[in-house]
Amino acid sequence: MPVTVQKFGGTSVADAYRIHLAARRAIRAKLAGKQVVLVVSAMGDTTDRLLDLAGRVTRHPSKREMDMLLSTGEQVSIALMAMAIHEAGHEAVSMTGAQVGLLTDSRHSEARIRSINAGRIRELLDQGRVVIVAGFQGVDENFNITTLGRGGSDTTAVALAAALGAAECELYTDVDGVYTADPRLVPAARKIDAISYDEMLELASLGAAVCHARSIEFGKKYGIPIHVRSSLTDNPGTMIMDNPPGMEDVVVRGATLKRDMGRITFVGLPNQPGVAAAIFDEIASREIVVDDIVQTVSEQGRSVNIACSIESRDLNEARAVGELIAQRFDSRAFEVQDDLARLSVVGIGMRSHSGVAAKMFRVLAAEKINIENISTSEIVISALVRQTDAERALQALHKAFELEREA
Ligand code: ASP
Ligand code: MG
Repeated sequence: MPVTVQKFGGTSVADAYRIHLAARRAIRAKLAGKQVVLVVSAMGDTTDRLLDLAGRVTRHPSKREMDMLLSTGEQVSIALMAMAIHEAGHEAVSMTGAQVGLLTDSRHSEARIRSINAGRIRELLDQGRVVIVAGFQGVDENFNITTLGRGGSDTTAVALAAALGAAECELYTDVDGVYTADPRLVPAARKIDAISYDEMLELASLGAAVCHARSIEFGKKYGIPIHVRSSLTDNPGTMIMDNPPGMEDVVVRGATLKRDMGRITFVGLPNQPGVAAAIFDEIASREIVVDDIVQTVSEQGRSVNIACSIESRDLNEARAVGELIAQRFDSRAFEVQDDLARLSVVGIGMRSHSGVAAKMFRVLAAEKINIENISTSEIVISALVRQTDAERALQALHKAFELEREA
């Protein structure tokens, strides 16, 4: 019998009514002849409330205990979901991450999945039950409860779909799919019918908060199509898949804006081996995530400037690095910029079309928006701009690349 995995996010199980709606959807799939695995998130804003609660008890919670605490949210949802299915006269059983043998490494709050005991779930499915698995959690080899990072239930679901050989994984959420841009910022944004894993990975890591980036990595690795759709309607949502129709023709698939970016520039460093290594060793040891790096040479090659963009919340740590480096290399100074935003356009078609960057820069120029930094990869072009210009820039790009038009 084909296996289907349905994941319901926090808003889709926010109250008893929604839980019943989700249960009904699962039962429908079962009656259509499928073996059904449900993955659920914590109800509504439960995870945020638990985090807040911990913050009232201590400013320095142990990561192990934090995972213990946060994992309770999903445990509530699975039990209630099982009850809702029982109420409708069907068999269901709830399982925690540990109970389905979802083994992770020991990195609390950002654990990675190592393996899943699919046999246990198969046995339960073969008994005719709906199996409801707690999202976002696992257990390490010493039986410590771990969590996969915020939004990690998506990853639980896609990993389960892979482990069980499911034909697809459905992610039910409160929006009806993935949009060409955040519709709160760009009213003309349009739902995308199908998108490639690579494009979605870029969009997810560039700020489109629709699904957990690692879930897309799993989907890509194991070839599981992921259907992001609304839990309130039966309308098709967005398929994240290998070869969406017309893939090469769509030059730009979507645009994103990531706020709260900053930049540190190390100025006037000696142009000699080991300088960049010294800076980035220091940055890495503080676990600052660097977005991109630009090095420029000045004074006829005698000195270099190195700039890197990072999230605003890491700027203070970066300042400390700046001071250390300036001292160590007897350099002039370092500069820090805050209030930046990263604008990006993403599309597989860029591999085979040229002129996308030129067009993007023309659009920004016409809007009199200054570009602080540019970075590109195979299917992404990003520009760092001032935060105050960002929304206007995003709207202009969305229009110029005709993203509101049906693909
Ligand atoms: N409940 C967790 C969170 O809010 C995991 C999830 O919903 O995916 O981040
Ligand atoms: Mg989510």
